[in-house]
Amino acid sequence: MEVADLHLHTTQSDGRLSVSELIDVVALSNASIFSITDHDTTNGLDAAAEYTKKYPHLRLIPGIELSADIDGDEIHVLGYFLDYQQVDFQRKLTSFRDGRITRAQMMIEKLSSLGMEVSWDRVQEIAGDGTIGRPHIALALVEEGYFDLPKEAFVNHLNRTGLAYAEVPKISPQEAVQLIKSVNGVAVLAHPFEITDMTKWIGILKEEGLDGLEVYYGNYGPSTVEHLLRLSRAYDLVPAGGSDFHGLGNPGEVRPGTVGTPIDIFDRLERLVI
Ligand code: AMP
Ligand code: ZN
Ligand code: FE
Ligand code: FE
Repeated sequence: MEVADLHLHTTQSDGRLSVSELIDVVALSNASIFSITDHDTTNGLDAAAEYTKKYPHLRLIPGIELSADIDGDEIHVLGYFLDYQQVDFQRKLTSFRDGRITRAQMMIEKLSSLGMEVSWDRVQEIAGDGTIGRPHIALALVEEGYFDLPKEAFVNHLNRTGLAYAEVPKISPQEAVQLIKSVNGVAVLAHPFEITDMTKWIGILKEEGLDGLEVYYGNYGPSTVEHLLRLSRAYDLVPAGGSDFHGLGNPGEVRPGTVGTPIDIFDRLERLVI
């Protein structure tokens, strides 16, 4: 089925394919529309727009994934069609990325006190120019032989409840929605099923102007999709989605273009652009 894969990561954050490598993969997939949604950055989007010209059948939607904090949980908000060049917006993204550097250093210190040594220099090297995130630490831990797969590093160590988890203050989910709206973007709640108080947060964020709900996501099965579709109708939110491909090498990773927003529904999302 032809889809709009509206959730993809590159080396501009914690994905492992560069912008051009990812676009080459998308071009061979079922996606005719795609969005690059790196964490707290839009740095790959200009290069992506240029490279997408190589594939006349492909359409790129500018995107981002913002991380927000709530008590004991985290919420991710996707933004599309945003006027991302705005100076104040870019300034805020820079400060989010700076906070992530402090946080990664704190986590590396915690790992060290647990007897797991990874060097900050190596983690930075793995992250390259991209927004630093936990997957980069996970990859360094795999390199050092502490784990076989990046996702295993999350189970007892890098997860929110993990031994090496650290946090620095982030924006609230309401602020994340407001920030996307402030640059004329369309705001979509990412992977809602991961949120403990999902329905409560859908209600709160709808009040802030949330436009859509990520319904077609990664490995969400038919009953989850059906549940989320009902919620999207109840709250008048556009049911959107994408693969959330990172290319981290975890087995069973959902490939670009295999999951996404049905093309006819994508039109509804586009009509929301002011
Ligand atoms: P961060 O942006 O540093 O908070 O890291 C969030 C990223 O870590 C997500 O986008 C996923 O790529 C990855 N991640 C989060 N939780 C897990 C998990 N339990 N297993 C594997 N990867 C995860
Ligand atoms: Zn990620
Ligand atoms: Fe996410
Ligand atoms: Fe993501």
